[in-house]
Amino acid sequence: MTDVNSNETNIPFSDLKKVIDGEILNLDFENRNIKYLITDSRRPIINPESVFFAIKGNNHDGHNYIPSMIESGIKQFIIEDQTAFKHFKDTDCNVCLVKSSVKALQDLASYKRSLTTSPVIAITGSNGKTIIKEWVSQLLYDSEKVIQSPMSYNSQIGVPVSVWGIESFHTVGVFEAGISHPGEMKKLQEVIKPTHGIFANIGSAHESNFESIEQKANEKAILFQTCERITYCKDHEIIHNALTIYEKSRLNGWSANDESADYFVSYETTEDNFTNIIIYRANKKSTFTVKFNDPVSLENITHCLVCLIDMGYKKDYLKNQLPRIKEVDMRLTIKRGINQSFVIDDTYNNDMAGLEAALSRVTQFPNIAKRIVVLSDIQQSAATKEELYGQVSRLLESFKIDQVIAIGNEITQYLKYNFGDKISFQNTEEALNNFGWDEIEDSLIIVKGGRVFQLEKIVRRLEKKIHGTTLEINLSALTNNLNFYRSKIKPGVKLMVMVKALAYGSGAVEIGKILQFHRVDYLAVAYPDEGVNLRRNGIYIPIMVMNPSPESFDMLHRYDLEPEVYSLSFLKKLDSYTREEKKSFKVHVKLDTGMHRLGFNIEELKKVIEIISANKYIRVTAAFSHLAGADSSSHNEFSHQQNDEFKKMSEVLIDGLGHNVIRHLCNSAGIIRFPEFQYDMVRLGIGLYGVEVTEMEQKNLLPISKLKTIVSQVKAIKKGQTVGYGRAGVAAKDMKIATIAIGYADGFSRIFSQGNASVYIKGVKVPVFGNVCMDMTMVDVTAIDDINEGDEVVIFETTEQLLELAESGKTIPYEILTNVSERVKRVFQSI
Ligand SMILES: *Cc1c(COP(=O)(O)O)cnc(C)c1O
Repeated sequence: MTDVNSNETNIPFSDLKKVIDGEILNLDFENRNIKYLITDSRRPIINPESVFFAIKGNNHDGHNYIPSMIESGIKQFIIEDQTAFKHFKDTDCNVCLVKSSVKALQDLASYKRSLTTSPVIAITGSNGKTIIKEWVSQLLYDSEKVIQSPMSYNSQIGVPVSVWGIESFHTVGVFEAGISHPGEMKKLQEVIKPTHGIFANIGSAHESNFESIEQKANEKAILFQTCERITYCKDHEIIHNALTIYEKSRLNGWSANDESADYFVSYETTEDNFTNIIIYRANKKSTFTVKFNDPVSLENITHCLVCLIDMGYKKDYLKNQLPRIKEVDMRLTIKRGINQSFVIDDTYNNDMAGLEAALSRVTQFPNIAKRIVVLSDIQQSAATKEELYGQVSRLLESFKIDQVIAIGNEITQYLKYNFGDKISFQNTEEALNNFGWDEIEDSLIIVKGGRVFQLEKIVRRLEKKIHGTTLEINLSALTNNLNFYRSKIKPGVKLMVMVKALAYGSGAVEIGKILQFHRVDYLAVAYPDEGVNLRRNGIYIPIMVMNPSPESFDMLHRYDLEPEVYSLSFLKKLDSYTREEKKSFKVHVKLDTGMHRLGFNIEELKKVIEIISANKYIRVTAAFSHLAGADSSSHNEFSHQQNDEFKKMSEVLIDGLGHNVIRHLCNSAGIIRFPEFQYDMVRLGIGLYGVEVTEMEQKNLLPISKLKTIVSQVKAIKKGQTVGYGRAGVAAKDMKIATIAIGYADGFSRIFSQGNASVYIKGVKVPVFGNVCMDMTMVDVTAIDDINEGDEVVIFETTEQLLELAESGKTIPYEILTNVSERVKRVFQSI
């Protein structure tokens, strides 16, 4: 199996001794090369040339997954905990012991980086890194062989995994780097060793680990130590100051204010709402036209243009490339497809690193019936075709892809795929016309291809048609919020996440899957049906049910759901049911410590203990209670009383039962305000969904949902005319009205009538006019000159908008979120 003709770099396992200063503990298996780096046991590439790095993180320890990795067929391992070596007894694995697995990963990538002499562009900044990286790469595709970091792989682990992909045939590398703690950038700098840099911007997000924004800027500037040239916007003073540590000759500052800057930039909006970006350099003027006009995108694209012009790319070439760049929200998105399928749309470029990243998403959909990949010819590789498609085939097999729909001359000719079905077409049109797309059901379909293949046509064919009102859920923001709360809980404390009421309106199954993927310990729902729905869709982690009924005992048992036990009458029914049916249950005992909703009081505990102790089928896994006023300091005294009560009652229960149980008390607000009440587990709810009700940490959360609809019609109304039911909207002057496709049946409450709430069209806040109807609402758009049928209407997107809407409705954000009715389509996105 030697790779003749390959111009890929081979690093045999035995070289790890010198490259990463490791101790080879075992070299039983043949001394293979290192090809695929696996840092996440949930996304393994099963291949003899894969290496699993056992990494210790805050929340889990990769060493725990070694046995399952061995079982799945991984043969090579890097470990940092010597005791884990016991797992390798009687195996034929290669094992290398290092001081730190993350450092080893970085050193290995750094070594690979040092073997290439091509230019490498590194991008950092608080926002927009990923899009700038994408755009720089897209601008270069037609003239270079580009390696770029997949998705937003920009962390201490993501960066080395990305850089590892560099091969000698690549002519440019484009990588992004992100940090969250001081000291981290130096390590990323050593891995990337960029020759060119872009410092995008500095925002206030994720500030918590830095003393000041200046400190953060200085830390980020470390990335550019090896750069010949560093592109940035001089108008950001903090960035400018942070970069003064470098010689002036290396700084490539552009400005929209200072005409004496190396690059002076101005913007003008064209008649068709495009933007001309005018760049002056040494008195020479060039104009670049882009399709958008929002300031953030304009700044991002200006970074790209200034950097590439400075690197010597011809302006005419860049002008020609510009119309092809994809806009910001065209990210690698998960879409609802036809017949209960999901579609992952990744239709821009197609290289091996990107393919691997896209395929690794399959693990987020454990319960899908079939895995399908629509794949075009692979671009940009100098390896021989046989070898290239051999690799593709191994990659597809390692992710157990059931069917490959191959599109293009090369892939048709060279891809041999025996693990699953393969069907080939010369081009996209042929595939569209001749494949039975409508027969696809219950599948995950990854559509991955170079842009010339226009696979977006296939995505459109597969997408469930969504019109009108949608709730967009941003899974990356959700992950951000999850990680924030994880940083707030003490080591060893478990995490239960509340996914009741469709995960606060956002979609229980999808959210449940992502939470399961991120290894939360428990989910909780209100009703048994909700739990069953999760189980039927592949959720296997423990689930607590808060409002179980005796009628649902069968169902609870069949689906392994753990009921809350809250009253003696309920407990007695469970007691007799379990004895008769001989069925075992794990239960959570609810203690009433002052909320006075559900739960036992202290006098009842004796009886509870008596019943449960005498019943071998009922096992108490947890005892919990709920704080009634955790969000507000005005109830501090009461919260402390509740905690004292909880402590006392749970001890009585534990004593009486004679075994320990998981104790949980805190909700989202409790996690923030009462770290001392965390016990063994916490219950995260609203915070995950982006609202920090204590308002102390809102800046660390991201909004996860955007409710939007469209304009159905625009009308001119004369002074004195009336609008809608009850003629409640009376025009005081000539005005313009837009009818939008959302009403109280969608969750847009009738209380918002007559100016009580506003929505946003083209960034303009417009009030409701007249009464909200069942499916429609009229809004006053007199202030917007250019408004048309089909225009997007934002109901809420930012946290401020959500809170404001709640206030208009005299309610709390919980209700606004959970009111979004089921008929509103949910669309899930992640970067
Ligand atoms: C809903 C709920 C939570 C979560 O509350 P948040 O305020 O959304 O964090 C926690 N515990 C119980 C018992 C709940 O019903």
